[in-house]
Amino acid sequence: MTAHDGMYIDGAWRPAATAATIEVRNPADERVIATVPAGTAEDIDAAVRAARAALPAWRATAPAERAARLTALRDRLAARADEIAATITAELGCPTSFSTRVQAALPIAVTGSYAELAASYAFEEKLGNSTVLHEPVGVVGAITPWNYPLHQITNKVAPALAAGCTVVLKPAEDTPLTARLFAECVDAAGIPAGVFNLVTGLGTVAGQALAEHEGVDLVSFTGSTAVGKKIGALAGGAVKRVALELGGKSANVILPGADLAKAVGVNVADVIRNAGQSCNALTRMLVHADQYDEAVALAAQGFAACAPGDPTAPETRLGPVVNARQRDRVRGFIAQGVKEGARLVAGGEDAPEGLELGYYVRPTVFADVTPDMTIAQEEIFGPVLSVLRYEDEAEAVRIANGTVYGLAGAVWAADEQTAVAFARRLDTGQVDINGGRFNLLAPFGGYKQSGVGRELGPHGLSEYLQTKSLQF
Ligand code: NAD
Repeated sequence: MTAHDGMYIDGAWRPAATAATIEVRNPADERVIATVPAGTAEDIDAAVRAARAALPAWRATAPAERAARLTALRDRLAARADEIAATITAELGCPTSFSTRVQAALPIAVTGSYAELAASYAFEEKLGNSTVLHEPVGVVGAITPWNYPLHQITNKVAPALAAGCTVVLKPAEDTPLTARLFAECVDAAGIPAGVFNLVTGLGTVAGQALAEHEGVDLVSFTGSTAVGKKIGALAGGAVKRVALELGGKSANVILPGADLAKAVGVNVADVIRNAGQSCNALTRMLVHADQYDEAVALAAQGFAACAPGDPTAPETRLGPVVNARQRDRVRGFIAQGVKEGARLVAGGEDAPEGLELGYYVRPTVFADVTPDMTIAQEEIFGPVLSVLRYEDEAEAVRIANGTVYGLAGAVWAADEQTAVAFARRLDTGQVDINGGRFNLLAPFGGYKQSGVGRELGPHGLSEYLQTKSLQF
C-alpha cells in the first residue's frame, strides 16, 4: 500500500489543502493498493490560478515549440509504457495484454499525433478580405473517467496543449495512479510550470468545483450522461464552452448477405474488451430474422469461451469490472433483463465460479431482446450483449436509432456500398463499415445525448480554439 501525498500544481508536487484521502483498490482482489489526496475547492482554486498565470506565456509560444514539448511528452510516456500498463491493470483490472496493447499504447500515439498537428495545423486562414486567427480558448478544466484512464486524459490534454490552452485535470477517483504517472511525464517533458495541473479528488467535490470555477473557460468532460447534463447546465449558466463525451448504446447491424460469423466474432470481442466498459461498445446486435438463431448461437458460444480471470495472467481476456458499485450495477441490469422476459443464452447474474472475491461478472448474452427493454435502452457498461431481431431494413434503422444515445455503431453487408447507404441513415457519430479499422485522426463523439463536441485529430484540436477575424 502506497500513501501518495501531494498534487501536481504549478510545476511541483504540493500538499493538499486537507488531509482527506481516497483509497484506490485493485478490482481483482479488492485490496487497497494506494491512497491519494482528496482535493477540495481550495486545491482546485490553486490549480486554476496556476493555469491562468501560465496561459499568457504558453499561448504565445510558437506552435513548433508546443509540438516539441508534446513530442517530449510522447517520448516520456513511451519510456514508461510498461509501468503505465501495470498501473492500469492494478487500478482498473483490465487484462495486462489489453493494458499494454491499447491502454498504454494508444495515448502515446494520440500524443504523437497532436505533436504533429500542433506543427501543421493552420492557426491562421484567409477568408476574402479577412484573416481568421484560431486562438486558444484559455484555461481548460478536464474531468475524466476510469475506463481508459490514460487515453481519456491524453484525448483532452494533448489537443488542449497543442492549441495553446493550459489545463487543470481532475481524473476519476478509481484510477488516479495513472493520472499521477502522466503528471510525472509532463514534468519530465519540460512543459512549463502551470501549463498542466493535476488535482485528485471526488467528482462531487473537486470535479464540481472545477466545473463551476469562474477561471475556467472550457470544461471538457467524459463520463456518464447524468453528470454530463449537470456540467452542461453549469457551463450554460456561466456562458462557458463545454465539450461532453457521454454514454452510448451502440448498435452492430448485420444485414443479410454479410459474413455472419465474422460480424458476430467482432461483436463478441468488442463487448468482452475492457469488460464492456467502453462508451462505444457495440452492446446491441441487430440481426435479420432469417439468421437470428444462428447469430445467437455464435454469440453464446463466443461469450462462453471468455471465462473471466486474473487480469495479470497472460491468457486472460476478461478481467473484473472497476469497482463494487459497477459490479452490482451490471448484475442488476442482468437481473432486470431476465425479469423483463429476455432469454439468457450465456452468463447470468451470479458471481463466476471461484471468483467471489474481486469485482467479477459473468459475460452475458441475452436473446429475444425487444427494443423497449431496459437492457436494450440503457448503458450497462459491462460484458453484456443484447441480441435483437429485425424483419426489414426500415425496422433495423428504427431500432438502431431508437435510444437516447448516438455515439458509435457498425454495419456489416455483402458490399461496402450497401453498408455505407445504411450507415448514412444512422443517428450516430461514428460507424464501422464491415469491421472498419480504428483511425486516430477520425473525429469521435456523439449525436443526441451521447455528447457535444468531438475528440481526436484536427476536429479534436478545434474544440480548444476560438476564432478572431481581422478585417483588412
Ligand atoms: P461519472 O460520470 O460519475 O464520473 C466521471 C467523472 O466525473 C469522474 O472523474 C468523476 O469524479 C466526475 N464527476 C462525478 N460527479 C461529478 C460532478 N457532480 N461534477 C463534476 N464531476 C463529477 O461516471 P461513473 O460513476 O464513474 O460511472 C457511471 C456510469 O457512467 C457508467 O456505468 C457508465 O455507464 C458511464 N461512463 C461512461 C464513460 C464514457 O466514456 N462515456 C466512462 C465512464 C463511465
